[in-house]
Order: sequence, then C-alpha cells, then structure tokens
Amino acid sequence: MTGTTNVTAFSSPSFSLHGVGVSSGIAIGHAHLVSNALLEVVHYQLPQHLIEDEIQRFADAVATVKHDLEHIHESLRKNAPAEISAFINTHLMMLADKSLSETPKDIIRKELCNAEWAIKLQMDEVVEQFEQIEDDYLRERKQDVIQVVERVIKVLLGHPHQLSSEQQTSALQQERKLILVAHDISPADAIQFKQHEFAAFITDVGGVTSHTAILARSLNIPSIVALQKARDLIHDGELIIVDGKQGVVIVNPDKSILTEYKLRQEQWELEQQKLQRIKSTKAITLDGENIELFANIEVPEDVVAAKASGATGIGLYRTEFLFMNRREMPSEEEQFIAYKSVAEAMKGQPVIIRTLDLGADKQLSGESETECANPALGLRAIRYCLSEPQIFHTQLRALLRASAFGQIKILIPMLSALSELRQSKLLLERAKTSLRKENTPFNENISLGGMIEIPAAAINAEAFATELDFLSIGTNDLIQYTLAIDRTDDSVAHLYNPLHPAVLKLISLTIKAANKLGKPVSVCGEMAGEAKLTKLLLGMGLRQFSMHPSHILSVKQQILHSQVNQLAHHAKKILALSDIEKIEPLLTKFYTPIEMRAKARH
Ligand code: PEP
Ligand code: MG
Repeated sequence: MTGTTNVTAFSSPSFSLHGVGVSSGIAIGHAHLVSNALLEVVHYQLPQHLIEDEIQRFADAVATVKHDLEHIHESLRKNAPAEISAFINTHLMMLADKSLSETPKDIIRKELCNAEWAIKLQMDEVVEQFEQIEDDYLRERKQDVIQVVERVIKVLLGHPHQLSSEQQTSALQQERKLILVAHDISPADAIQFKQHEFAAFITDVGGVTSHTAILARSLNIPSIVALQKARDLIHDGELIIVDGKQGVVIVNPDKSILTEYKLRQEQWELEQQKLQRIKSTKAITLDGENIELFANIEVPEDVVAAKASGATGIGLYRTEFLFMNRREMPSEEEQFIAYKSVAEAMKGQPVIIRTLDLGADKQLSGESETECANPALGLRAIRYCLSEPQIFHTQLRALLRASAFGQIKILIPMLSALSELRQSKLLLERAKTSLRKENTPFNENISLGGMIEIPAAAINAEAFATELDFLSIGTNDLIQYTLAIDRTDDSVAHLYNPLHPAVLKLISLTIKAANKLGKPVSVCGEMAGEAKLTKLLLGMGLRQFSMHPSHILSVKQQILHSQVNQLAHHAKKILALSDIEKIEPLLTKFYTPIEMRAKARH
C-alpha cells in the first residue's frame, strides 16, 4: 500500500490508480462522481443576443433543483429524522427566495456573463450578509445557501445531481452497481451514505484511520482513500474495479482483467462465506483462554450487523454521529431513546457508550475544521464536554436513564489528565443526583471507563486504571499523537504505522497496568480488527477486542489458532525490538495463513 498515486497505462483508455485500501473486498461497477461544483465555476462573457437564452438556462436549472428537492422530500422514508425533512424545506425556501432565483438574472443581464458566474457572485454577496449576523444559528445558515447554490451550479455544469432514490432504484434494477468517487467526504456526509447501496467508495484524500475511512469500513464495502486524482481522472459512468485490499482502482478494464477480477471477487466472497461457519463458535484459544470480541457502532441501526457478526457486546458506540448533520443538539429524550434501543437490542450483553467525541475531523453541521490551527490538539472530546457542561449533563442523564434497560457502561474519550477524569466523575455524580431527586431509575453502579489514546494517558495508565472501572485503548489516536501524524492527512499516511516500537510499548504498558490492577482493558481502535495483529495483542495480554463487525470473524479465526502462553514469549521478543523493519517479518510468524483457515474448530 502506498500513499502516492501511480497511474499505469493499460491498452488505452484503461488505467489504474493506487491509493490506501481501508476496507477489503472487490467491487466492479460504474463511477458516480460527487463533485465540488463551486471549484469548477469559470467566468465568461456572452454576446447580447445570447443573454435571454442564458437567463432561460438559469431558470431551467433552478426549476430542476426545485423538482429534485421536492422529489427527495417525497421519497424520504417515513422513519427519517424530522431534521432531514426540515433541512430540505429550508433549501426549497432559499431557492425560492428572489435573491437566489431572480437577482442572478439581473446580474447576467447587466454583466453579460454566464449563469454559473452570476449565481456564484450572488452567493458570495448573500454569504457575506449572513456572516454579519450576530446570532450563531442564523450565521451558520450560510452553509445552506452554499449547498443550494452548489446544486444549481451542478445542474448548470451538466453534472448529475445528488443521487435520488429513483436513480438508485433504477441502477439497482439494471444491476448496475455504483461506485462513489469523491475528492473528499466529511464524516458528516459519509454517515448519510449508510442509506445508499453503493458497491464501493473511493476518495482522493484521507488517511487510513480518518473517521471518513472508519465510516467507509462500516458500510462494509471495499473502500480506498488517498487516490489523489481519482475525481479528476475518472468520468461519470465509467466501468471501474475497486480492489480494497490492494488499494488499487482499475478504470475501463479490458476483458481479460475484468474476467480475472470477477474470479477474485468470487474467491473473496467464498472466503467470507467460509468464515461464517465460525460465527457462533466461542472465541477461545487452543489453551482455553476466553477472549471477548465486541463490535464498534456509529448509529443504533448498526446493532443488527454487530449481532449478525457474533459480537458478544458493543465495545464502542461513537455517539457523536447522533449530533451531526442537524441544526440543534439532540434532546435528552432523543438520546435516551437511542441508547436504550441499543441496550435493549443487546439483551443484557455489555454496551460501552462513549460520551461525545466532537472536534478535529468530526464537526457539528456548519462548523469547519480549519477554524482552529491544530484541531486534533484542540477543544476535542472530553475537553469540549467539560467546557460545555450543559451538553455533557444532558448526555450523562440520557445515558444513566438508559442504564436501567441493559448493561450500559460509560466511556470517556481523550483523557490526558486525572483532573479531567475527576471533573467528569463530579458531573456524573451531579447527573445521578438530579435523577434521584426525580425518582428516575438508573444503574447506581454504572461502570465508568476511560479511553487511553494520548501518550500521556498511556504512560500514566496505572493511575487511570486505579480510578476507573475499565480502560479502552484508542489506537487510532494513540498512533496519531505518538508519531505526530495527522490521521486524516494522506501526505503522511505512509508514516502511520501501528507497529512503531513506541506505539507497541505504550499499548503494552497500558495492558500491563490494567491487568496488574485486575481492571478489564480492550483495544477499540482499528488495530483490534487487523487479523495480522491479533496474536501480537494476545501475546501482550489483551483479552478484549472491539472492532467493526465485518472484522470479527477473521480475528476470531486467529484466536482459534492461538496458544497464549507461547504468544507471550513472541510478544516479548517483538517489544524488545526498536526497528520496525525487524518487527514486520517476525509478525508474519504469528499469523495463521489463509490455507489453515479452512481447518477451523467448530
Ligand atoms: C481511537 O482513537 O482509536 C478510537 C477508537 O476513537 P476514534 O477513532 O473515534 O477517535
Ligand atoms: Mg479516538
């Protein structure tokens, strides 16, 4: 895998692109480009006699967008959140407003310019007016103006607009699989793709553990990031092959390549089916050690996939996605319903719910990551919650209320100092007191855990383990902060290595500290789902893993072939090394190769 793009010429017009595979599997389908239309607007002048035609072209585009928005509104699922409907209505209102639907016509007339340029000029003007507004909520509505104008410009440029459910259905009816091709997709956009049936997902930018990549993985389809020029080089509708494991995209493949990949696709699917045989097998090592395999989820509906994968609990519920793509914070009642639904669906199995981890690449609607110089080092996660005690209080009350309906445990993200933990405990106590006063039932002994994802917390893990009920190692951030590598930046993606000796040492330190104090510890970052690393983590003493449901069976396969007493010895040898290049080959010795997979115990 490489972070750089290589374009290899095949017999024209076929070519391949190389990026970073973030979700395995092979997809063959047609490209669906998501464009950033605003970047493509050019300015040109028109002769007087073409002006009325240009105005008509603009009016037609506005009418098309109106029709599309109305159609999307009508086809919304009955159970779609009310905010989505309100959001579409706002866009319709903005589109109908004279400032967007009429003023650009005057600009075309006056400036003798093209329609795209006219509406872009008008948008800049309107956005500037919004920026003067003091009220935060209204000021943020400038994003809606931008989105509406983008839609109009896309139509003017002849790009297909947002995929309507009608288009999707017809693509599916024709068995035409669609592959999403984008320059970049925010986590907020990616979560919306969960409703769509794309066959694969590829982007120009993004790191392997960026939240966009994590969401792509949760869609359970092949995904590649860091392709650099895919959005420019691939055209809408072109046939493409996506090999998520190798990080390769082949555009317009010739017949022989297509046949070869169809074969590989069948093999992959066969392998996945074989793994299904161990779905209900207990995750026990050859020497009888019981291992917990939990699932990571982003929205309550993910519980279905978690249960289908044979997970015996939820090890990480990232609640921040409930707060994104909307105008207002979710109420206590809405949060309570979401958390309770997960607790009930898991029927008494553990459900570890992480408190809000907003900030860095996960932003609320309308807020931009670039507003602070180093967002990953800024007001993120628990720091944000402690600075917004009312938001935190509401979430804690909702979590406590839901704890009466299952085995909910609370997990605090990004702890760096004990003072943050103590402040969080005070606020938890305050939320408990408020519920007691109302006689609202909750679990008085609810477990409180902390994420170890900052080197300072790993080095000080024993102190955290002393004051907490359990620990969860967030390797995605732990790697980012230990190696000073922005996990969303593809230009440094090649340096992002979970096997860096410093990272391994911090993980080992944390596991040892928790084990010494008899406190449960898990890994819930992407490392937990890497079957190649399972035996190393077992050797370090890890007995609890939490990962995306699609990885559970391949990790379980490794566990079934493990002997933990031997692995401890191997892990010790690896931890003594200070050179990644020596670590990688040793790791291969641990791995149970594919051929042995068929001999799984049942
Ligand atoms: C992590 O950092 O490893 C983690 C699990 O949290 P997130 O990926 O949501 O930051
Ligand atoms: Mg994290």
